[in-house]
Amino acid sequence: MLCPYCGHDDSHVIDSRDAGDGIRRRRECLQCGLRYTTYERVQTTALSVLKRDGRREEYNHDKLHNSIIVACAKRPLATGAIERIETDIEEQLQSLGRAAIRSSAIGEMVMERLRSLDRIAYIRFASVYRDFDDLETLRSEVEAMLSASQPRTPPENQGTLFPLEENNRGKSRRGRPLKHQRNLRKRLKPNVS
Ligand SMILES: [Zn+2]
Repeated sequence: MLCPYCGHDDSHVIDSRDAGDGIRRRRECLQCGLRYTTYERVQTTALSVLKRDGRREEYNHDKLHNSIIVACAKRPLATGAIERIETDIEEQLQSLGRAAIRSSAIGEMVMERLRSLDRIAYIRFASVYRDFDDLETLRSEVEAMLSASQPRTPPENQGTLFPLEENNRGKSRRGRPLKHQRNLRKRLKPNVS
């Protein structure tokens, strides 16, 4: 750390205090004698993230946090649920012991956890995170998830994904326009004449 006033590279620590997730140190430059404060955050290994466009950037906790917060906005989640996901992912990242990881691998880790936490948050995250080309895959995942959801009636707090789902559950295939369904039923009705 260089002194912000004179650029000298040596200082002596006058005071250290715990600042929650890091340590604040008050330093005095050994050359000019001016004082400045540094903030150290614990990071056991430096991790680079390889972005889809080929760029590389340092892993950033805030980016992970913000992407999850946006996906979970206004969802009725238990206190601490988001923090648990973040801690869990960061522990997994550390346990991999790698210097670099693809951003898509982190995205998968988030999706895997949101999927079992809250399906709306999962879909929101996936739809932002995935490529537009990949929406068909997403759609089939949504359908697989809906048909696998137990019990058949989603819990009160899970909301409805598609408006048609509520009215036509069990009667017709999801996603079909109502008019088409009516025509279909008409056609299937036995001819009474
Ligand atoms: Zn200095």
